Amino acid sequence: MKITDNHVVTLNYILTDNDGEVIDQAQDSSFVYLHGAQNIIPGLEKELADKTIGDKFTVKVPPEEGYGHRDDSRVESVPRDMFPQDQQIDPGMVFHAEGPNGESITVTVLEITDESVKIDSNHALAGVELNFDVEIMAIRDAEAVELEHGHVHGPDGHHH
Ligand code: ZN
Repeated sequence: MKITDNHVVTLNYILTDNDGEVIDQAQDSSFVYLHGAQNIIPGLEKELADKTIGDKFTVKVPPEEGYGHRDDSRVESVPRDMFPQDQQIDPGMVFHAEGPNGESITVTVLEITDESVKIDSNHALAGVELNFDVEIMAIRDAEAVELEHGHVHGPDGHHH
């Protein structure tokens, strides 16, 4: 069985930056995704097409096929009172917020004054070249309900 759209794929992977630092990994068949449903970044999904169980490969994904380039307009100062007054805020703190389209965004605090907080809402991996070391562990047909929802169900997937 080869990986095509509407297959559920299990992979092991190690993700490193160009300095060899490990950014993320899954080595125990715990990572499962639905192929063809934009569950994963485009540069990796493209490489997985037509691969089969046991295949191993490495791929370098550029930012435009990963988490995008850094956008300087996403570094901005917002009023201090947008944050709870009783909350201590320090540079380097990370907040999770909801973006304009309901997507989950991560906001990092850069600087803070009495009146304002300078934040960066670029994805932490924006502008980073991503080096994936991948092994295909399993492939199966997606269930109808998984296709309907656009994500994987089951013990290692999405739970409702
Ligand atoms: Zn679902």
